[in-house]
Amino acid sequence: MFSWDAFVKTLAQTPIEFERLKAIQLAQAILESGRGLSDLYKLHANPYGMKYRPEMAQIATPVEYTASDGTDIYCKFANLENTVKGYWVFIERPPYQGWRQNNSTPEAFIRFIAYAGYIGGPFDGSEKDKAIKEEYIAKVLRLVPEARQLLEKYRIWRAKGVMLEVGHGQGDPGVPGVNGISEYDLNFIAARAAKATIDAAGVPCVITDAAGSLYNIGKLAAGHDVFCSIHHNSATSSAQGAEVLVHRTKTDPADLRLSAIMSAEIAKELGIRDRIAGGRDPRQSLAILSGAEDTDVRVSVLALLYFISVRVPNARDWSQRGGQAVGRAILKWLRETAG
Ligand SMILES: [Zn+2]
Repeated sequence: MFSWDAFVKTLAQTPIEFERLKAIQLAQAILESGRGLSDLYKLHANPYGMKYRPEMAQIATPVEYTASDGTDIYCKFANLENTVKGYWVFIERPPYQGWRQNNSTPEAFIRFIAYAGYIGGPFDGSEKDKAIKEEYIAKVLRLVPEARQLLEKYRIWRAKGVMLEVGHGQGDPGVPGVNGISEYDLNFIAARAAKATIDAAGVPCVITDAAGSLYNIGKLAAGHDVFCSIHHNSATSSAQGAEVLVHRTKTDPADLRLSAIMSAEIAKELGIRDRIAGGRDPRQSLAILSGAEDTDVRVSVLALLYFISVRVPNARDWSQRGGQAVGRAILKWLRETAG
């Protein structure tokens, strides 16, 4: 038996392509399943009344089910993550072609799919059909505030979200690289890429760009779930590697966990050594992290994406991908620690 609460939680914590459409995706489920009370939901994890179509074979199995409008073949999902993703597989089908260009707001999206045939088949041009579609749109839109409230309960961040700091800048370019770009410029590319990844998951994320002393930048992070200062490493060695540091004395297991996740994610993305997994102690004396740890930030780390003293094929591309890995690691940690 699938519980309604479990569906709300899974929807809240599963990334989808357009996070702004999550509330409407939930509003439809509220309407179609009566807040999880339909047997189609409880037994088959289908809160949408989604009928089975050949394209659904990749994520669902067919099941015969009798609804108020008779017996038909519906989608059955093995788990609720498949339910969340399966909805978008359903929308990806030919009848809804063009939905990506028509989803700037929840209302634009529901209007587009309703007229494309989500309710009562494709629009036939009649006043009667128009009334059916408008009634459905209005019903779903009325449920959006309730959906937003439910999603809020299971959001993966608890405080103000994520603060990223671009290492160096304003007269301090950072370590010199052999790749022809300053560390600051690469840090900036990486921070923007990390922010885009985090934004796409609907988690609030701000970038701060070197204002004042390291300690004060750390203090700025007050009230955030995660503080991450973004840098690139430098050494005379020719070995390439990723590394994520935490404060030497003020670190708790959560900081260590994020540093391990992030170091592994960057190393995997760039195909380089994970220096933490290799045994390097991430605990270092760092003024910037001391400032963050002195406040109520849940975790703070300093990411050293790779060595810019070692030539890489395309430094901008590496920093962008490294930044995306930083963003993914932060999201993974937030999901892991969400209640
Ligand atoms: Zn640096």
